[in-house]
This record gives sequence, C-alpha cells and structure tokens, in this order.
Amino acid sequence: MRLVSFKHSGRTGAGILHGSGVFPLQDIGYDDAVSFIAAGPDAHQRAEHVEASASKRDLLPLESLHLTAPIPRPQKILCIGLNYRDHAIESKMEIPSVPTVFAKFSNAVIGPGDPIVLSAATQKPDYEAEFAVVIGRRAKHVSTSNWKDYVFGYTIVNDVSARDVQLATSQWTVGKSFDTFAPIGPHIVTADEIPDPHALDIRLSIGGETLQHSNTRELIFRIPELIEYLSRGMTLEPGDIISTGTPAGVGLGRNPPRWLRAGEEVVIEIEKIGTLRNPVIADQARS
Ligand code: ZN
Repeated sequence: MRLVSFKHSGRTGAGILHGSGVFPLQDIGYDDAVSFIAAGPDAHQRAEHVEASASKRDLLPLESLHLTAPIPRPQKILCIGLNYRDHAIESKMEIPSVPTVFAKFSNAVIGPGDPIVLSAATQKPDYEAEFAVVIGRRAKHVSTSNWKDYVFGYTIVNDVSARDVQLATSQWTVGKSFDTFAPIGPHIVTADEIPDPHALDIRLSIGGETLQHSNTRELIFRIPELIEYLSRGMTLEPGDIISTGTPAGVGLGRNPPRWLRAGEEVVIEIEKIGTLRNPVIADQARS
C-alpha cells in the first residue's frame, strides 16, 4: 500500500494510491494519515480490501490533488547524523559508536514538488538524501528482535541543511530546521512491500548529475538498533519519522563545496520507494 496525504478543493486528507487515482480514507472514517496509521494492522488490511475493490467513481484523480508530505505535521522527526561510514569520513567526523540524533521540526516540512526556499540566513544550503522509517504504533522499550511490529512503512526525506548555521555550534537543530528544509514523500510504502529495508539503492541527482549514490546496506546503525536506542527513554508515536542519515556526496564534502542554487531541482530516488523531487527557489525577501 502507498499512503499519500493531499489538499483537494481547500481540504486536507489522506488516501491510498490506486493507479492514477487516490482512494480517500475519509470515506472509511480517517481524516488524516496519522489517525489511519494509529488504527493498526487490522484496520489497514480492511482499508486495503475496500481500496482494492474501489471503482473509478470512488477515486480522486491524482492530477486534481496537491500532494503534501505524507505526514504533514509529524510530532517528531528524529534524524540520525553520520550514519554512513563514507559520509562520516567526508565530514571529517569520527565514526560514531552511539547514534548521533538531532531533530527537525514540523515548520520545515514540505511535500513532493513543493519548493525549497533558500533563506537569506544561510550562504551554505546543502542537500541530504535519506531513507526514512515511519513508526506504526506506540513504541517504548522495544528490543531489536521485534522492531518490525513498530514500523508502518518507509519514505524519503531530504535533510536540507544550512551548513554555516548547523556547524556554528555543536547543536545542529537550528541549521536543520529552516522553513522548507524537510521535503518528505512522495508517499509512504508500507513495510509488507519491503521485506528487507537494508538493501535499497539510494540516489540523489541535480540537473541529471548523480551527486549521492549508495545503498541502505551501508548504514552503520540499522533500523532495529535505532528503534531500540530511541525507545529506551522516549515514547515513539504513530507517524513519528526516523530519518536514517545520508551517504557521501553532500555539497559540504565536495571539493570545492557545492551549495544549492535557485533554479535547480533536487531528485532523490530510493529503490522500491519512489522519487522525491523539489525545486529550489530564492527567498522573495532576499531581492
Ligand atoms: Zn541528515
């Protein structure tokens, strides 16, 4: 199942992708993606049955919708820093022995096709292709052996970063949470469709040039360890997002460094998940 969130005639909603249409979950009682995710596996199966037998008049045509981030206002976006060996090396940071975790806030979230707005407050805007996990049920004290019970599905995050602001102190959160600096989507693919999430190609390109290319098998801390580590002290909730970190090839690690520019389009592809595209525009307040 591929779960999307959308705006349609001034209203928001969530739905299941069905060919060139979307089956709206409002028709079976769910107003948004998080309430649907929180309803649990039996509800998801029932929804899939209804969706599978939906006729064309039950569907909203995809072209009539503005897709938003699949979780438009996540309660938590937990990001893992330096979780690919090659990226830790290019960042001139040590290979971590415990996960480095920071937050991105909901003000930063945008959906597929929405513009990344270059703020005047950074001279060094950068991209980061990331594979992300969407939590399916409340998680506390989860052990590595039952991690799959807590995962709803997977999506793509672009962890856009204001490098100058991020690296001005030891705390990264401000430089990671500029408005529009968390493109997410285009949809969530449910976990049943991805038996092995640690074997997915991940690629980022701009203007046809591949800048990042790796595979989730290169993750230093894998999903079971991350869920166990985070849920030791913190309750994870349905719809929370864990973005697992970025591989080598970010603008910061290039010689010379390469920053995002207005007029570009960032394209992230992850095998079995999809493609997330976002144009980059100048901040109107800048000119
Ligand atoms: Zn990142």
